[in-house]
Amino acid sequence: MINKLEKLNKTIINCNKCKRLVDFRKKIASEKTKRFKHQSYWGRPITGFGDPNAKVMFVGLAPAAHGGNRTGRVFTGDKSADFLFKCLFKVGYSNQPNSDNIDDGLRLIDAYLTTALKCVPPQDKPTSLELKNCLNFFCQEINVVKNVNVMVCLGKIAFDTCIKSLNLKNLGFKFSHGKLNRVSKEFYLASSYHPSPRNVNTGRLTEDSMISFLKKLKNLEDHI
Ligand code: SF4
Repeated sequence: MINKLEKLNKTIINCNKCKRLVDFRKKIASEKTKRFKHQSYWGRPITGFGDPNAKVMFVGLAPAAHGGNRTGRVFTGDKSADFLFKCLFKVGYSNQPNSDNIDDGLRLIDAYLTTALKCVPPQDKPTSLELKNCLNFFCQEINVVKNVNVMVCLGKIAFDTCIKSLNLKNLGFKFSHGKLNRVSKEFYLASSYHPSPRNVNTGRLTEDSMISFLKKLKNLEDHI
């Protein structure tokens, strides 16, 4: 499984299929932002991260411009990561409450974290063609990380991507924060608001509601 995942990840990080995204990720990596101007940016597609035997897979939208696109690891070095890992740690899905850089010692516990799109899109808005181009990587990823019982979509775009890649359109599931959709006795599709500052700063997503959602997931896992 690890070899298959390594092989897939190698292909992902060398992908240049979406011209607009390739140009954008490189532009950000060369222009940088004032706060990180002395750092070298990753500026390439990012892969999933975590336990390849995990029962829970968290799926975000895409790397953030100065988060994953800078550090080279999903949900690392930005505000979304700060919020998410504070909550994941409290519920026991990670060994520490921070995700700052790839050498920070972070480990996910029985969890795997990835994104629907592997490159940062301008304004966090991928085109439908870009999502389609990248869907194949996501489908391969879920075939390799195959012990997952609960797939957790962080945001509507991740939710729609999971519905497509798992071929669940006919079940009529709708995106809703905190919802656990039962696909089969052994598999659930869950959804949550994305932990972005847009949702956290407006109070749409609070630490309490995220933690209570994550506890629900833990409880569900114990009963599958
Ligand atoms: S978004 Fe996906 S398909 Fe498009 S360039 Fe990046 S890795 Fe390749």
